[in-house]
This record gives sequence, structure tokens and C-alpha cells, in this order.
Amino acid sequence: MRTHPIVLIPGDGIGPEVTAATKRVLAAAGAPVEWVECQAGLAALAQGREVLPQDTLDAIERHRVALKGPCTTPVGEGFTSVNVQLRKQLNLYAAVRPVRNLTGVPTRFSDVDLIIVRENTEGLYSGVENQITEDAVMSMKVATQTACVRIAHWAFRFATRRRRKKITVFHKANIMKMTDGLFLRSARRVHQHEYPNIEYQELIIDAGCMKLVQDPSQFDLLLLENLYGDVVSDLCAGLVGGLGVVPGANYGERGAVFEAVHGSAPDIAGKGVANPLALIMSAVMMLNHLAEDLDDAAAGACAERIKAAYNQALEEGQKTRDLGGPLGTDQFASAVIERLR
Ligand code: ATP
Repeated sequence: MRTHPIVLIPGDGIGPEVTAATKRVLAAAGAPVEWVECQAGLAALAQGREVLPQDTLDAIERHRVALKGPCTTPVGEGFTSVNVQLRKQLNLYAAVRPVRNLTGVPTRFSDVDLIIVRENTEGLYSGVENQITEDAVMSMKVATQTACVRIAHWAFRFATRRRRKKITVFHKANIMKMTDGLFLRSARRVHQHEYPNIEYQELIIDAGCMKLVQDPSQFDLLLLENLYGDVVSDLCAGLVGGLGVVPGANYGERGAVFEAVHGSAPDIAGKGVANPLALIMSAVMMLNHLAEDLDDAAAGACAERIKAAYNQALEEGQKTRDLGGPLGTDQFASAVIERLR
């Protein structure tokens, strides 16, 4: 059986706890991976290095796939966010967050099954901020035709591969006529010229958010620019049980980084209570990526076994505290491992 070298970044806060639990689950499932451990975030700073050391970047460029725990960036000390740097340096332009109800995790809605595709490199995350006068500061929202068309293509291609029927773009092009206007026109053109078979909808983001919380089942795939994607991802996480159950992936031409949507959760770090499920689910996305892009059927089969095991664990009430259960991080990982078939 071939194994794939995967860069593993444990991260900060609850990161090391949830990555250790995820490693245990993948090892027990016989996942065809070999970890290449690298540092980023506070863990790297503590060793006197950059928040995102060059050798971590080089390792991801070399091996092309990484599983990453949440990294903390010190606030207001001149550090650029590890996540923003990673996405920019590796040009990981498409972020994907599948949001679906899990049996055993009751929430207000029971039929949520949507995918968020977020543009990951531009918008207000361009980091162009200026002091204009003594009184005024400014943050620049950037949109390029290249990136807008690229993410639109990516979303429609992804929807086609995953047999999704409808793409909805949330925007504020009525106010930000140039930036959001470009994003919207790009998506509309790709739809009209290349994917007329997929249903296409445009909604002003405020109305879209209202519809999301009224009836999320009306959405299939959401295509959003950077900041809207960030905010709406957490909103959607709330629809299905919170940040502990939403995985994520960042794809680019030169690699893919898989990570949970949640942050380093300093309030519960070191207590052994964090839910490792979002990272386990991200690892399942990673195995599916190995199956699809590197044609490794064993990785795909392994992903299915882990998914079936955590679904069964949840159905049987094996849950961490954030989901109303009694288990700690390691106990939940063990419950998943016991149910691997
Ligand atoms: P960061 O600055 O790194 O984004 P944060 O605390 O602002 O961290 P999150 O880490 O996303 O944001 O956490 C938000 C809330 O959700 C916290 O109260 C945290 O305890 C909870 N939370 C996040 N992830 C998990 C998890 N995996 N298991 C349980 N609770 C979680």
C-alpha cells in the first residue's frame, strides 16, 4: 500500500489536542498517510521563529497536502495572520466548508446540507490598510477579474463534480458596485456561458442571511467573497451544531490545506474537552482528496469507514460537551475508533 506524506501543523490552543485525537483515529483506520510535522503560529514563535516559518511553507509546497490545527496570531503586534499568509503564499484560493446536519446532533433544522465556497485571497483580507488623517483609517477591499473568474469557475466545476444543482451568490453589489459588482458579473458570466445546466441565484447578503436562518434547506452551494464567506461559515456552523462539527479545506493549484473552521479556542485549551470532530471531518475531506486527485481508492475507503464510525458514535449519544454530551476529546476519539469496521 502506498502512503502519502502529509504535512501536519498541530497549531495552538486546542490545536495540539484535536490533532492528536485525529491522528489516533486515522492510525486506527489504517489511513495511508505519513505525517511530516511542522510548526506555525505561537508554537513557532515560542521557538524564536516566524509565525509561518519558511520550512513549513516549503514542506507544504513539496508534499502538496497539509492537515492543520488552528493557529493563533498575536493581535496588534504587527504579525500577519498565519491563515491569511498561508492562503496567499500558496495561493489557496478556494475555501470549501460543507455544512450538514448530523444524526444525533439535534438542531432547529433537520435538513441542512449545503456547501460554502469562499474566495480566499482578496476582498478586505488584502491587508491594505492606511492612516488617512489623524482621524481616519482605511481598509481597502480588493477584487481582481482574475480571482473573481477563477473562483466562479472553481465553484461551478465543484458543483458539477458533486452533483450540486444550484449556486447562490451572496453580495452587496448595490453598495460596492465595483468590487462586489465584479464578483457578481464574473459568476453570472461563467454560469451563462459554461454552466447553464446549474441553477443560479443572486441574493443581497442581508436578505440571504435572513433566508438562511428561516430555511437553510433552500440553499445548495453558496459562493461568497472572502469576508462574507468567513462570517456566513460561522452562521451556518450554528445551524448544524456549532464550530465543533464543520470541517474545511483550502484548495489551490499547488496544494491543499485541510482545517476545521473553528479557531484555537483559548477558553477551553488544555482542558481536554475540545471537540475533535471538525478536524476529524477535515481529515476525511483530505482522504477523499487523495482518493480523487491521486486516484488512491484505499484513501477513499478509509474516509468512508471513519465517516461511518463518527456518524454511529454520534447516533449512539457519544458526544463532547459542546454537543451536550459527557465526553472529552480523547474519549470521543476512542468512541470513533471502537466503531471502525
Ligand atoms: P481564534 O482567535 O483562534 O479564532 P476564538 O476563541 O476567537 O479563537 P474559536 O476558537 O473559533 O474563536 O472559538 C469560538 C467559541 O467556540 C469558543 O467559545 C470556543 O470554546 C468554541 N469552540 C471552538 N471550537 C471548538 C471545539 N472544537 N470544541 C468545542 N468548542 C469549540
